[in-house]
Order: sequence, then structure tokens, then C-alpha cells
Amino acid sequence: MAQRGDPQDDAGARWPTARAIAAGVRDGSRRATEVLQAFEARADATEPAIHAYLLRARDQARAAAEAIDAAREAGRPLGPLAGVPIGLKDIFVTEGIETRCGSRILEGWVPPYAGTHARRLAEAGAVITGKLAMDEFAMGSSSQSTPYPAVRNPWSPEHVPGGSSGGSAAAVAAGSCAAALGSDTGGSIRQPASLCGVVGLKPSYGRVSRHGMIAFASSLDQAGPLTRDVRDAAVLLQVLAGPDPHDATCLDAPVPDYLAACERGAQGLRVGVHRAALDHEALEPEVREAFERSLAVLADAGATLVDVELPHAEHAVATYYVLCTAEAASNLARYDGIRYGHREARPSLRQTYEATRERGFGAEVKRRVLLGTFVLRKESYAAYYGQAQKVRSLIVRDYAQAFARCDLLASPTAPGPAFRRGERDEDPLAMYLSDVFTVGANLAGLAAISIPAGLSHATAERPALPIGVQLSAPVLGEPTLLAAAAAHEDRSEHHRRRPPTAEAIA
Ligand code: GLN
Repeated sequence: MAQRGDPQDDAGARWPTARAIAAGVRDGSRRATEVLQAFEARADATEPAIHAYLLRARDQARAAAEAIDAAREAGRPLGPLAGVPIGLKDIFVTEGIETRCGSRILEGWVPPYAGTHARRLAEAGAVITGKLAMDEFAMGSSSQSTPYPAVRNPWSPEHVPGGSSGGSAAAVAAGSCAAALGSDTGGSIRQPASLCGVVGLKPSYGRVSRHGMIAFASSLDQAGPLTRDVRDAAVLLQVLAGPDPHDATCLDAPVPDYLAACERGAQGLRVGVHRAALDHEALEPEVREAFERSLAVLADAGATLVDVELPHAEHAVATYYVLCTAEAASNLARYDGIRYGHREARPSLRQTYEATRERGFGAEVKRRVLLGTFVLRKESYAAYYGQAQKVRSLIVRDYAQAFARCDLLASPTAPGPAFRRGERDEDPLAMYLSDVFTVGANLAGLAAISIPAGLSHATAERPALPIGVQLSAPVLGEPTLLAAAAAHEDRSEHHRRRPPTAEAIA
């Protein structure tokens, strides 16, 4: 019996990577149906405690796995994700599978089409296991803002998994899917990845289509993978990236070989550190220590550390919350109970709208719609929305100046490890501070990744919990990002650690 948190052999059957699964299915040493069964068994065992899934698409998954095995038997070519069980955050539109974006207002909506993400994954041979739980409309940092069962952190069910892609991070950490998709508007891939001890990659804005990803804040939203290791993130990005006729903001830039980029190493890379940000009062000492150790690992891999300034970074959270609420208020106006999902029918149209939204939206979504409507009012537009746009430009310029001196930026991903359930529910501002290190990348459209950087020390108050480190690169800098992240991973064992709940049922 392995010890709690012991590293597991990558080649072993217990925790195969997506790459190992696909390679096995392609060469005939694994069958997609058997792989699926193994992950379903793990989901059966972990779900009662973790609640990572909002919906398990068992029938569709079985049909997809059987089709892969049949294709292999018929000698047809198989894709790079052949037979890999992948869970999708419920923000992704899935044909024939109910899609709610974690909200009652969309309850009952079964999309008649697949979004670009679900379609490209399926074409690559992935087996979609179901829809993963999230903060309603991706607004939150804990995956507790939901009318459905709140997600638990597999490392400690009394702690949150982070959010809003908390179901995605928890499912990968618990082993109930091999990889997952999340969305990141202000940190929602990276922060839960950090809190659950997995890898989370937010691609550059426009690198991956937004078609079929339900809109929260359209100038910030980006889809990306949550995986067990950096190379799996590269493989998923390869499948997802590239132009899409359905999304005019999707960049028409060539897609490099991301897996090859993982082998480039960190030799000669200049890694910038904004030291002043490390004095943030919310930053826990243990996170800072883990961060310093990660810098040493990168230096050991041949990177040079340079100090940089990001003079407007302290305004990033405020800027983000003005802009994301304004865009959300506009995007969410479409949910009126008439066109999609749930309807509370009343005698008049206006009463129907009101009753549908009253029941359909939770407290945080209402708060954001109200805030967004306020900042967009004629009387407050210049002072809030207009001002935030100007500060956003300054933040973009800060990054451009920093990247003149370095290839990548490094920072902690989140100020602390997972917090206790309920701890910040009544304090939106404390919750919003979870995003201090992540929102900048969204405001500037950067590529950014969170990778495991160790565990906190167990104390009387909390068990050992994962800590992540974040690397960011200029727009379309994913190859450099992956090179450094893989070099870090190759020199550490953090990504091999498994949560005790997963060990217990393995
Ligand atoms: N925590 C941030 C928010 O609540 C980020 C959400 C996200 O990235 N989707 O808006």
C-alpha cells in the first residue's frame, strides 16, 4: 500500500497520463472501454464525497469508447486523445448533453450542437465523461457559489477546491477523469489547479476559440486544460488551439508543436519577478517559501532571474471587477426565460422575466449584474467603466515593458492554499482577493500556467494542502511557457503527489 501522498509511477496503471492512455489505446495494449470503466469506478468511489460532476454522461461516454475500440479493430487511424476520459466544465456546450453553466436559469437546456471544444476533443478521440461543477456562470473562486452540491477539495473535503473551475480541478486530482477543460476569466483555471495540486493552463486570449463556451466577460474569457502534468496540457492545447470560423476573435496564427516545446528546457530563459507583489498582505509565508524554491528550481534548470516592475499591478483586481461585471451584465441579459432553459411563467412578460431571473440566478450572479449595470450607467460610465479601460491599457503597457527585459514572469498562483468551506462566503471582497496574482494575465491577454509547487505543512487547523506557482508569457508565448513549466516539473515530484482521498480508494 502506497503512503499518503507518495509519488506514483507514471507508467503504472493507477494514474496514467492522457498521453499514456492514448498511446496504449493506439497500440492495442489498452481498450478505451476498459479505461473508461476504470475512471468510472473511481468516480463512483469519489463522487459521494467530492461532487466534482454536475452530470455524468455515462451512455454517451460508453458509446464513444466503444466507437474508439471499433475504429482500432477496423484498423482506422486514431487521434491524439484516443480513449482518454475527459470531463468538461459545465460552461462548455455539449450536443445532446444538458448544459447549465452551473445555473438554474439554464436548467433543462440540451444544446442541439457541440461547441468547438467538445467537437475538437471528440474528433481527437477523447471520451467525454460528463459536465463538471463550477461557480454559477463561472463567477467565483471557490465552487461554492452554486445551487447544486458544492465541490469539495480532494485533499481535504472541508476545504474548497478553488473556482470557478473547481469541479475540473477536483476531478483531475481525484482521478475521476484523466484531464478536464476549464475556463479562465480572471484565474478560474489556474487558481483551482493550484488549490488541487494539478496543472492548469490559460492560453493567450484568442489562441483557443470561445465558440460554445458560455460567455461571462467576453474580452477576458479563455478556455484551457487542467491536467496531471505539463505535457498533457500541451497535448490538449494542441487539439484545442487554432483559428475557428465561428469566433472572429480567435487568432489566425499557426499552431506550433507544443509537445516538442516541452523538451526545449529553460536554459537561457530570463524569468522576471515583480518583487513588490510578494509583500501583499494576503500572501501566506508558506506560499512565498514554495515560490522561492520554484525560482531556485528554474535557476537550476538554467534560467536567469531578473527583477521587473509592474507599476499598475495593484489596480488589477479593481479594474478586473469593473470590467468583468460590465461585460457580464451585458452578456447575461439574454437569460430571460423565453429563449433558453428554465421559465417561471407569469401572467405578463415582465413578471415572467422577473420571476425567472429571481429564481434562476443566485446571489453572486445578481450582485455582478447589478454592479455591471451600475458601472455602465450614463452617470457612472466615465468614472468606472471608462476609467477601468484606461487602467487596463496601462497594465497592458506594464507587461510589454516587463517582457522587454524577460521571457516569462513568475509569481505565486494564489495567495494561500485552499481555504475552509464557508470562510469567505459572506465576504465578497476577501473572495475577490483570491485573484490578485491571476487577473493581470486576463487583462493583458497573456498565456499563463499554474503548476504544482509543493504542499503546505500539516497543522492542527489544516492538513497538508497543495500550493501552485504561476508562469506567464506574452501573447502566443505558449511554447516558452511550456518549456519552462516542463523543465520545472522534470526537476520536482510535486505533480506526482496524489490526494489522500484518491489514495484511499485506489
Ligand atoms: N474569481 C474570478 C471571478 O470571480 C475569476 C472567475 C473566472 O476566471 N471565471 O470573477
